[in-house]
Amino acid sequence: MSFSVLSLPEIEALVLAVLVENGLDPAQARAVADTVTRAEADGCRSHGLYRVPGYVAALRSGRVNPAARPSVRQVAPALISVDGDGGFAPEAVRCGTQALTDATRRNGIAAMAVGRCHHFSALWADVEPFVAAGLVVWAYVVGQNSVAPHGGTRPLMGTNPLAFGWPRPGTEPFVFDFATSATARGEVELRALAGQDIPAGWALDAAGQPTTDPAAALGGALLPFGGHKGSALSLMVELIAGPLIGELSSQAVAGLGITDGGPPPGGELFIALDPAAFGTGTTQAEDIFAAALSQPGVRLPSERRYRARARSRTAGVEVATTMLRQIGALRARA
Ligand code: NDP
Repeated sequence: MSFSVLSLPEIEALVLAVLVENGLDPAQARAVADTVTRAEADGCRSHGLYRVPGYVAALRSGRVNPAARPSVRQVAPALISVDGDGGFAPEAVRCGTQALTDATRRNGIAAMAVGRCHHFSALWADVEPFVAAGLVVWAYVVGQNSVAPHGGTRPLMGTNPLAFGWPRPGTEPFVFDFATSATARGEVELRALAGQDIPAGWALDAAGQPTTDPAAALGGALLPFGGHKGSALSLMVELIAGPLIGELSSQAVAGLGITDGGPPPGGELFIALDPAAFGTGTTQAEDIFAAALSQPGVRLPSERRYRARARSRTAGVEVATTMLRQIGALRARA
């Protein structure tokens, strides 16, 4: 496979141009381009340029409102609601970020429901601004319906990622972010494209049998991570980022029969805590991180991303030539 090296500004400019030329409002396009570029910078390919054709497909099919203007409401002292106006999630989340930060500082704790938007980005990108503001934060999204409950064989739940962020004085924050399925669906799709097997334990085929064939997995069901524990967490995410905030369950989204490959409709729930409200802050926790890192073989979640980020800022990112060609072709139709 051949690659080209692109700088981060080149990636951002490319994505922005493709989206705007396909009719997307510049503010929406800037937010998506930022999310895609950050994913490439951090070495999270399954949420980077790979997703651009899906964003464009959702615009071309008319499913996503290209002129969406999200609106932010404070519905209770510690509850923020963002209406995404049928656009893409990154701009809806961006619009609500300051309101949730302010509400959390005022109340010690606050939550934000982001609805009526289309999401398939990586959640660490959504939580980082809150952590940078010194808050502890959780984020939840109902992912694509493809995960069988523990003991079952047919998809019931989405891949349902959750993220947690914890600010650390003087160093990069502690952030973890993962699907509650054994892996993100995008990772299985990438393995299928590359002709690679998936590890045992990730999926079942359509007959309910364990499989390492990514195509069979996509036609069958992914498994939750960690057996009954991941299954229960997945169901929790399905509840709190779906019906609780007035959004669709992953099964309901599957029932819409969307085939354009773009992000599904749905929402996102954020919960944020101000550590200063307890009068403690986060400094004391540094002992825990130090103890963890004193053990050989231990690294903190996100360390790989931070290393990739530092590298790509100076060295750029390798992008498969075939993908660049595919994305370039999306401009031709403008
Ligand atoms: P991964 O299994 O790739 O990574 C999960 C987390 O674990 C990361 O924070 C990672 O840090 C950390 N980690 C990995 N290996 C280690 C290790 N050895 N020691 C310590 N920490 C480690 O995640 P998934 O495949 O489950 O999900 C990938 C992405 O897909 C997520 O960003 C998620 O938000 C996104 N997603 C989005 C969906 C949507 O609908 N919007 C649906 C499903 C998933 P690091 O990154 O530094 O390796």
